[in-house]
Amino acid sequence: MRHNMAKIKKSCRDKKRYASRDAANRRAIELNRKGVRVKPYNCPACGGWHLTHRSPAAVLNAAFIEAGMGPVHV
Ligand SMILES: [Zn+2]
Repeated sequence: MRHNMAKIKKSCRDKKRYASRDAANRRAIELNRKGVRVKPYNCPACGGWHLTHRSPAAVLNAAFIEAGMGPVHV
């Protein structure tokens, strides 16, 4: 929906976005095999999946705060 698309944050547009957990997981496994430590997380701001170098809890909190949903406890 157009209205929702407009809500996607710059941080989401700048990042590679994956449509599903499987797609994000496959990419994360590839990168981890190359020594790049990344983890997939479900982004509450855009509903897609991104990869992060940071801890999932920290990323989730940042994403929730950015989406105006406040911090979460993971
Ligand atoms: Zn996002």
